[in-house]
Amino acid sequence: MSAVEVAVALPVTGTFSYRVPDRLTGQIDIGSQVVVPFGRRRVAGLVMALGASEGASPRPTGRARVEAEIAEVAQAPSVPPSLLALARFVADYYGAPIGEVVRTLLPPGTRPAARRRVVATKLGRKALVAAGAALRRADLDVGGADQERLLARIVAAAGGLAPRSLAADRATLERLVARGFVEARDRLARAARPEAAPRVDVATRAPPTLTADQSAALTEISAAIDARAFRPFLLHGVTGSGKTEVYMQAAARTLAAGRTALVLVPEIALTPQLSSRFRARFGGGVAVLHSDLPPGERTREWHRLRRGEARVALGARSAVFAPLVDLGLVVVDEEHDGSYKQQEGVRYHARDLALVRARDARATCLLGSATPSLESFEAARRGRYRLLAMPSRATPHPLPEIEIVDLRLHRPAPGTFLSGRLTAAVRATLAAGRQAILFLNRRGFATLVLCRDCGVAARCRDCSVALVWHRAMRRLVCHWCGLAERPPETCPACGGARVEPLGVGTERVEAALAETFPGARIGRIDRDAAAARRGTTEATLAAAARGEIDLIVGTQMIAKGHDLPGVTLVGVVLADVGMCLPDFRAGERTFQLVTQVAGRAGRGDEPGRVIVQTFQPDHPSLVAAARHDYAAFFAAEAAERAKLGNPPFGFLALVRFEGADAAAVERCARELAASLRTGCGTPTLRGPPSVVVQNGGAVRVLGPGPAPIARVRGMHRWQLALKATERKTLRPAVAAIIALGSAAGRSGGAHGARVRVVLDVDPVSLL
Ligand code: ADP
Ligand code: ZN
Repeated sequence: MSAVEVAVALPVTGTFSYRVPDRLTGQIDIGSQVVVPFGRRRVAGLVMALGASEGASPRPTGRARVEAEIAEVAQAPSVPPSLLALARFVADYYGAPIGEVVRTLLPPGTRPAARRRVVATKLGRKALVAAGAALRRADLDVGGADQERLLARIVAAAGGLAPRSLAADRATLERLVARGFVEARDRLARAARPEAAPRVDVATRAPPTLTADQSAALTEISAAIDARAFRPFLLHGVTGSGKTEVYMQAAARTLAAGRTALVLVPEIALTPQLSSRFRARFGGGVAVLHSDLPPGERTREWHRLRRGEARVALGARSAVFAPLVDLGLVVVDEEHDGSYKQQEGVRYHARDLALVRARDARATCLLGSATPSLESFEAARRGRYRLLAMPSRATPHPLPEIEIVDLRLHRPAPGTFLSGRLTAAVRATLAAGRQAILFLNRRGFATLVLCRDCGVAARCRDCSVALVWHRAMRRLVCHWCGLAERPPETCPACGGARVEPLGVGTERVEAALAETFPGARIGRIDRDAAAARRGTTEATLAAAARGEIDLIVGTQMIAKGHDLPGVTLVGVVLADVGMCLPDFRAGERTFQLVTQVAGRAGRGDEPGRVIVQTFQPDHPSLVAAARHDYAAFFAAEAAERAKLGNPPFGFLALVRFEGADAAAVERCARELAASLRTGCGTPTLRGPPSVVVQNGGAVRVLGPGPAPIARVRGMHRWQLALKATERKTLRPAVAAIIALGSAAGRSGGAHGARVRVVLDVDPVSLL
């Protein structure tokens, strides 16, 4: 009897060896989805390797032991082996349990824990038919009304019945089992079998004549696709330069070469236009992996890709695990976008994994952006990626002029939030029958509610942040934990009656616009509007595209790749939001957001205009954005990063400690930091000794200290950071953290109170 190596879909470290029973011989292959016993449970798992046994190739996080037998093989297509390799990489690099990674590989709708179901066998179905037809045959004799009734019930229940629900009929059930009419099986809950694929009609819309920049870029990309070797590109194309057209033609070329293409976008719900452009070009050949799709549909798209019926996959972050085989092209649109980084569970970065997947598949990798991340641009500068530049727009009008309005000098009229210049520009836009976008990266009505007598602001009781006033909901909301409470009538601190909102969010801008411009049709796009009703974002964008909305107010949700030709004016209400966050990427985000949102203006027949309001008109990120000067932004930002050894000139891992007991959290953080600093100084440290040294060594330990948001959901938070000059020196330190962290977690900390240790390799947010 042979054995296989299985990763179970539970957050456990390491893979396990299971025996293959004789009855399943020949049915199990690498990538097979199986059900295995695990402790007292039965869980879903993936076969990672064949012939595994004790002492089989040691895995970085693995511990092989013969657990038991495989219980069941799912009647479902296997997961491609290339994805299993990717899963191992993710587990290793991000220090995540392989089981948790494996969950992301299983077709959507698969449950980690199998459900035991009583189902009818083929023979049982026949027997039921025979009983109904009063057919007498010894092997089909159900033997009695009770049995027949129960058998009918089991046959009628599609998907079988839970054994518990049949407890009352135990004896009858046993008789049916003994006759071979029914059996208990472990099923991985899964939506119905995939349906027939939609008709594939390719090239329903003819591609435009390429601009010179586009065709130069495509020439190089095509050569790479034909070479069938790993070739990474950074496509630095200004907003409106026609990057999407390049992606689509590269994908078409890849299909023509007989290979498949993966296209990642930051948030698919925010870019309905992109998917419709791909659908128009590739018809049923594109599978859109959209987390808002009903599970059945998502499963169907997974199966279409796995069977090669759809050969282009389009989706957000998790689509990096799409089951494509013979991958020839990976595109990452808006590669700088922070939403590619998963912020909980397995903290992978989809852009970085896209590169890994492309490398392993010998595929072309195309990272596209108008505002490349420092990481990608530096890699291009060093020649690791080939830089393709598209510095002008594909449409008739050049990039819009960006004016900066100094709010210190040009105060908006009370309650309007718009300076005289921006107000006049909006009025002119409305008069011309055009549209304007008013951007403010803060949702809600007011930033705070504050007692005007004692100055105390309403704060969340579970998080160390102020509550945001949402007027439409009439609630004070915590943007960290979601707490929503009624506003106090009087100040809880001094009893004063003057508790009033202060500051501005999108909801308040919307209200102010309605007063300033009566008659204008206003739409708002932010997470609150989206949460109020499903599909609101798409509906508002579609209405804007039809010209049924004049003014669009929104957060960063409107900064992403929308193509609204009627928009001629973009106003940034307050560029300072987020500019001073305690995060070294704050300046980069400001540059990206202002550039991206400015890029929404003037994409149609009319030129665009952009007005940026700020209290810091000299901020280097704003000045560079206003001049459309990526090079200047990069030079200044890179110098700053290099000085501090921040990415891309160093590598970071963040370790966060969370727990209800503040003292325990602090102690745990301090102890772990001390252990890291002394290398092998404590008995709990099981990582490689002495790789972590203080000051000037290969890896520096920064902190620990309280996290910038020191309490969330009642949990106290501390953190420390590891900073390394090279990626490979960070790895052993990360391994040490995992050992220490899990030791701390297991023992509940040295002092009894539970402290959660969360590791984030290559963090994108330090909050
Ligand atoms: P980006 O993604 O670079 O911001 P898009 O791909 O959205 O730009 O293209 C911007 C606009 O230019 C779109 O309306 C697109 O249809 C149009 N466009 C792209 N390429 C061409 C071309 N070669 N000729 C004419 N219009 C083009
Ligand atoms: Zn809170």
